[in-house]
Amino acid sequence: MSTVESFRRTKIIFTIGPATESEAMLEKMIHAGADIVRLNMAHAKHDWTRGVIRRIREVSARVGRDVAIMMDIKGPEIRTGDLDVPIELKPGEIFDFTVKPGAERENAEEVRSVNVNYQDLVKDIKVGDTVLVDSGLIRLEVLEKQDAHIRCRVLVPGQLSSRRHINLPGVKVNLPAFTEKDRGDATVGLEAGIDFLALSFVREAADVALLRAFLAEKKSKVRIVAKIEDQSAIENLDEIVAVCDALMVARGDLGIECPFEDLPVIQRRAVNACLSQGRPVIIATHMLESMIAQAVPTRAEITDVANAVYEQADCVMLSGETTVGKYPLECVQMLDKIARRIEREDLPDLRSPAVFTSERMKVLHSAVVLANELPRSKLVTFTRHGFMAHGLAALRPVHSPILAFTPSPEVFRQLRLLRAVEPFLMPFSPEPDDTIENAIGQLKHVGAIATGDKLIIATDIVSQDRLVDSVQLRTVR
Ligand code: PEP
Repeated sequence: MSTVESFRRTKIIFTIGPATESEAMLEKMIHAGADIVRLNMAHAKHDWTRGVIRRIREVSARVGRDVAIMMDIKGPEIRTGDLDVPIELKPGEIFDFTVKPGAERENAEEVRSVNVNYQDLVKDIKVGDTVLVDSGLIRLEVLEKQDAHIRCRVLVPGQLSSRRHINLPGVKVNLPAFTEKDRGDATVGLEAGIDFLALSFVREAADVALLRAFLAEKKSKVRIVAKIEDQSAIENLDEIVAVCDALMVARGDLGIECPFEDLPVIQRRAVNACLSQGRPVIIATHMLESMIAQAVPTRAEITDVANAVYEQADCVMLSGETTVGKYPLECVQMLDKIARRIEREDLPDLRSPAVFTSERMKVLHSAVVLANELPRSKLVTFTRHGFMAHGLAALRPVHSPILAFTPSPEVFRQLRLLRAVEPFLMPFSPEPDDTIENAIGQLKHVGAIATGDKLIIATDIVSQDRLVDSVQLRTVR
């Protein structure tokens, strides 16, 4: 019997942290089916980064399942400065944010203040705007602007400690998209062999272009994930989707920067924008938040994960659940279980006419039409750079897995991001037919195909010294 049904179509990304960085935990997480490990550079030092990447590679090799590594760089981020002791902000308190430490302030002896790293704060913000601190836990309203500071009233109180993240909903923040810190972090990542770079707070296509230029300068083939986290990104969604290699719906910051009731609408719009441009999409943050402290998720979280699978997102992502949570392994097992269950349902055919633009996509489309019509069909593809597998995944075959062979270890790992794609690493023979026969042999060996299965093979063949995209139908004997 074929065991292809055991391939999960929705991919799992987990963020590594104290709860998961040991060899023993990494081994369990990879074994349980994690596909991509994310390193959040907001909290990572370079020595730790190098060590952990080495460890992931070693453990992957031992488990016999090579996972991909995604480095998430911070991008433009506003933070409060250092404080000797935390400040307990009280409801109604008047409080200053200052961009010049020590600058003169009216009533300085009565009004407490903190420094902020954003020099244009006073220029860019308006009276009446909202300042959110620490993931929106503390909320203030801007009352007045002075030379080097803004004076606010505390609406929602809380404890303010050092270097807290600040959100300014609706304000066009004038900070570089790819900072010096990002450049340093990314350089370390490239040297250590990461597969994806996720850029935070992408606001327009030009932000992605900056990172693309940096990667070209480094001659790197690492793929770019654009994280959409604020209102500018939503306004420029289509142009961002057009230039990135994958999109992440970063619901943590989106839920702070946008009205929270807009969040499901934004998620759906983002997934649809990706489907219509054939771009992979990741749904991130708070998927199993309650499992940071408890061994079982809430019913609402189960339904949220299921919704991402129904929407046919490529990946679902864990953050705090696997960095500091008590049940990181159970979280991966939970995502695996929910995804497999929903994938057994009849999910709709989401092929978007907009992606059939190129000749190659038309050929791949014919392969997917065939696969959708044939029971027990499996798509098989041979891909040196990943394009064929990307194209097939973008067409969202309704039931067939995409068994993708590549001779490149880098491409193999990058294919882990794509919905329904199961990558296989195999050298290609000079004779294309030998390559196909070797692949069929390997698929039989691992129990991925069985006698009677229909293989729809999408590959390029040499014809009169030219490469021609082709689709073949073979029955496994
Ligand atoms: C998010 O905001 O949802 C997110 C994924 O970004 P980060 O974890 O870097 O804040």
